This record gives sequence, C-alpha cells and structure tokens, in this order.
Amino acid sequence: MSYLRPVIDQLNAYEPGEQPPLSSDVIKLNTNENPYLPSNTAMKALKMVDPDRLRRYPQPLADEFRQSAARVLKVDPEWILVGNGSDDLLTMLFRSMADTERSVAYPVPTYVLYRTLAEIQGAPVVEVPFDDDYTLPVDTLARAGASLTLVANPNSPSGTRAPNTALAELAARVPGVLAIDEAYVAFAAETALALVQRFPNVIILRTLSKSHSLAGLRLGFAIAQPALLDGLAKVKDSYNVDVVAALVGAAAILDTEHTLATVERIRRSRARLSAALGALGFRVWPSEANFLLIRPADGNAKGLYGFLKTNGILVRYFQTPPLNDKLRITVGTDRQNDRLIAAISAHGLQ
Ligand code: PMP
Repeated sequence: MSYLRPVIDQLNAYEPGEQPPLSSDVIKLNTNENPYLPSNTAMKALKMVDPDRLRRYPQPLADEFRQSAARVLKVDPEWILVGNGSDDLLTMLFRSMADTERSVAYPVPTYVLYRTLAEIQGAPVVEVPFDDDYTLPVDTLARAGASLTLVANPNSPSGTRAPNTALAELAARVPGVLAIDEAYVAFAAETALALVQRFPNVIILRTLSKSHSLAGLRLGFAIAQPALLDGLAKVKDSYNVDVVAALVGAAAILDTEHTLATVERIRRSRARLSAALGALGFRVWPSEANFLLIRPADGNAKGLYGFLKTNGILVRYFQTPPLNDKLRITVGTDRQNDRLIAAISAHGLQ
C-alpha cells in the first residue's frame, strides 16, 4: 500500500548534481555555477535589506525585480513573470499546460527536469532524439503536436544552440506553447527574445543562477505576452519569490557591467579549455554555454569521471545513453581549468 499517487510512486526523482561543503577544496565543475562572485552592488543590496521588509510578505509579483529586469531587457514589466529560480517557472508551465490529455515534447538529451515535471502531471511525453550534432529536430517536434514544447537553448548538456530561424519555424508550427529555456543564453551569440513579440505562444525562461553568479539566491524569470503570463501566474505559489531575492536580484540585473565582464571571462576560458581538450584527443561539442560536452577518445567517460573525483575534481557524468561515454564539464577559472587539464593528462599517462 502506498500513500502516494501512482505516478509519484513510480517517479524517478530528479537528481541534482553533488554539492560538497563549501569548505572542501574540491574543484566543482559539475553544476554549471559561475566561478566568480556576484556583483558588489548586489551584495550591498543584500546587506541593506530593511528588517521591516522581512517582517512583511513580499510583493506577489516581485515588483522590484520585475521593474529592473524590464528596464534591462527593454520590455514592459507586464511581459515578465518572476520565479524562485527558473525551475519554479518550469513547474508553473507544466502545472498550467500539461495533464493526461495534454502532451509535452522536447528534444533529448536535455535538462532532465522536463521529464520529471511531465511525469508528475501524468502527461504523455514525446522525446525526440537530437542527432550527433545536436541540430534541432524542428519537423519531428512540430509533428508531435504537443501542448507544451520545450527547447533548452543553448541546450544542456551539449552547449549547442539552435538558430532563431529554426525556433521561429517551430513556434509557427506547434499547436501549443513553445518554451525556450535560455538559462545559458548570456554565454551565447544570440537570444530568441524577439520571438515573444512575434508569437503569442512563445515563452522565454531566464535565470540569474549562471550569468549573475546567484544560483544560491534562487531567482529566474519568464518573458512572454501578458495573456500567457497571466495564466501561469494562476498556478504559482502566492509568494514564490522572497523579498531578499527580489531586492538583491534587482541590483544584480542592473549591474550589467559586472555581468558582461564575468561572462566575457568565462567565454575566453571556454575557448581556451575547449582547445586544450581538443588537443588531448577529446571530441568537444561547440558550446555557447558555460560548460562543455566532451567525449574521451576511448569512450570511457565513467572511468575518467571516477579518476577526476578521486583527484578532487567534480564533473558531471550521466549514466544513460547516449551520454554514458561523455562528460559535461563546467568552465571554471583558468586556474581551475588548468588543474583539470593537468589531471586529465596524468590520467592519460597511467
Ligand atoms: N534550465 C536549464 C537548461 C538548466 O540547466 C537549469 C539549471 N539546472 C535550469 C533551467 C534551472 O536553473 P535555476 O532553477 O537555477 O534558475
């Protein structure tokens, strides 16, 4: 006998990457965090939080943050909905759009949480395999005819990005909503933001976890036409964003200079790390994110993962094909990346 709904009973819970204690000297390249500290103005905002603000409930729509994000993105605040990380917005999307009669489609491999959220809703899932180059399978996704189609762009774990022309074609052809998850877009050459003006069924998801070094704060947001966001807001928790996150996030998103500087450093390190791994014989997929998908020449990714772990370097290994011969490695500081390269070279010499 179980107390749970059958779908929850059978659910494979989403497994977040390992989080070793901050005090350990592990080089943590497994969950795509930013290796640099958040903006100073954001930290000042944190220190200056008025205790009276904590005594009261927060603004239900995180107005402080919404106004600031709208200013930076040059959109109307009505076109923004804020969440407790972009995971919260994904939850709202699935809650409001997917059920046993309303299916979900996305290309795979991708962010594993999409499947977990679909299963919680009991929604039929159409997983369309990417080819080896991670070209977006527009036609197959469109023909799936789902109520909710998701594309992580840049995709995780590949780091590859579909062009806006492909996304626009998909948006025009799907019968439901197209969610473009831009968690990593700050590290990419192009955003699909302009598509929300053209398509009432397109929603863009963003987060401050990666580009703004604020994964611990939990702040994300969606951009879409107000009619769509009104629907999502119906299923959100009443006070889904705490007042500290709203205030600190507002300061962080306004500090575009800091964000651009750290993003640029990470992009340069990405190019350097990618070249070094290529020279060591790895296949390295072209990444527009803050991580690299790589395949060792012998395909023994699990062995390399274990070796790196014993040497104090955490990277991400996924057990399931087609990823089980590959690793996803977050781009760290140049110093961390050099330690990684040294460890990999030592492994090769064994
Ligand atoms: N989308 C993708 C593609 C991700 O990789 C992540 C990070 N795990 C998220 C969304 C969620 O990010 P957050 O909830 O920290 O905003």
